[in-house]
Amino acid sequence: MNIAVVGAQWGDEGKGKIVDLVAPRFSVVARYQGGHNAGHTVHVGGRRFVLRLIPSGILHPGVTCIIGNGLVVDLKALFEEVDELAVAGITVDGRLLVSDRAHLILPYHRDIDRLSEAGLGARKIGTTSRGIGPAYEDKAGRRGLRVCDLTDASTLEEQIRDGVERRNRLAGDDTLDWRDVLQQTSILAERLRPWIGDVSVALARAMAGGRAILFEGAQGTMLDLDHGTYPYVTSSSATVGGACTGLGVGPRSVHAVLGIAKAYTTRVGEGPFPTELLGPAGDALRAKGNEFGAVTGRPRRCGWFDAVQVRHSVRVNGLDALVVTKMDVLDGLDGVPIGVGYRCGADTLTEFPASLRKLQQCTPVFETMPGWHAPTAGVRSAAALPAGAQAYLRRLEELTGVPVLLVSTGAAREDTVVRNEPLASTWFGGGLS
Ligand code: GDP
Repeated sequence: MNIAVVGAQWGDEGKGKIVDLVAPRFSVVARYQGGHNAGHTVHVGGRRFVLRLIPSGILHPGVTCIIGNGLVVDLKALFEEVDELAVAGITVDGRLLVSDRAHLILPYHRDIDRLSEAGLGARKIGTTSRGIGPAYEDKAGRRGLRVCDLTDASTLEEQIRDGVERRNRLAGDDTLDWRDVLQQTSILAERLRPWIGDVSVALARAMAGGRAILFEGAQGTMLDLDHGTYPYVTSSSATVGGACTGLGVGPRSVHAVLGIAKAYTTRVGEGPFPTELLGPAGDALRAKGNEFGAVTGRPRRCGWFDAVQVRHSVRVNGLDALVVTKMDVLDGLDGVPIGVGYRCGADTLTEFPASLRKLQQCTPVFETMPGWHAPTAGVRSAAALPAGAQAYLRRLEELTGVPVLLVSTGAAREDTVVRNEPLASTWFGGGLS
């Protein structure tokens, strides 16, 4: 079976751990959108890996990893990651394929990102300033540079000159020289050459040969350009639709969709967050959950699980099941609130509104479940979960309308509970825990 894994909240849900856990059941792990702003943290054998561009499947020797056309690739960042993996004894040779249709992030994109964000003042989006937004803007503006252009010297020079000129006009200086950018890019292009290929063709062949594909989404549904809290979103399709456009596969290639959600909610950067906890309660959740960005180190905003928001994710992705991560972070609380609606004047909204102005006029409606005092931390079997935690998970299932397949009770691969064994067997062949 081919399964897509998507973030069901605002990203950082722990997708990296789950992809790493199930990856050995697949021949190919294919990423379909985003750039090196997506930091997946994986803890294996006491080592901590932060993967930004390369799919988490790379940690398993038999798995081929794909960087789809839907990504924007910063070659410098890609090779830094490849080199870090090499130090840890992991080689990507023969196991990494980069789409010839993927767009490139160049040094001028990074500068444009920083300059544009600075110009927005109070309306800033809170981007990671890695050039991802401007590279996607160039893609939509039909002036982007793709991986396949790296082998065409005249196109490369012309586009880099144009890009650097745009940057220099915006910056009001000429500190970036197109010749330097061209030279650096040409060196990196040479190194990339053996890994470039047609991802759509490679995936079609893999599927024809009966090989199972894991489609890996980055960020989360609420950061999706169309279905997220626009304009406080990323520039790509983080929802499951992005798997088709970002890899060149048809919708029937995705046999099931798994959403990853934390047992509570976090978000990084600006934008609405209905169930956010401000003050000491939010600080406590942040400290307990170690909620600081894997790549940026930025503190994440924290709040309670929002069933309205996750139901939105269930619908726009057609989620078949959820994985609930970081259950252990809620251990020891007297009560655990869940957001079940938004009160807006005389109305209670049960669907996530498009208009952020409308959302700002709403206050969340909470239902509080009893807490549990026996820890879930490190629990590895469903029967060993405290009764309170089981009741909480059942309530999440009722409110979201989908089963909880797995529960994560710690950062390590082994700290995982299979809650729905029949589904886990069908999707992954069982024996996950
Ligand atoms: P991703 O981008 O969705 O993979 O998420 P991140 O890697 O940014 O953030 C997830 C963080 O939580 C990482 O540091 C993980 O090691 C950690 N993590 C994942 N699952 C659990 C869990 O169940 N409990 C705890 N305490 N930490 C977890």
